[in-house]
Amino acid sequence: MARVRVDKQICISCGVCWAMASEVFELDPSTGKSRVREPYRKVDSEKESVGEIPEELRSAVEGAANACPTGAIAVS
Ligand code: SF4
Repeated sequence: MARVRVDKQICISCGVCWAMASEVFELDPSTGKSRVREPYRKVDSEKESVGEIPEELRSAVEGAANACPTGAIAVS
């Protein structure tokens, strides 16, 4: 398993992450920011969205993290 975190405070809603890794990221309609999708989402607040993803999705998520223009996505 890998942990993924979106910092909603620096997300600018560009949509790159949900375009590149739509299995994991989606638009949070209440904030307009990115969030981790169900069933991976563990924590979701105004500040952050945190989830746990299977290893097979790690490379897609790392690609989205590298492409995020504000560095809002962290994978560990
Ligand atoms: S790529 Fe980064 S800035 Fe763009 S929507 Fe995703 S988290 Fe937000």
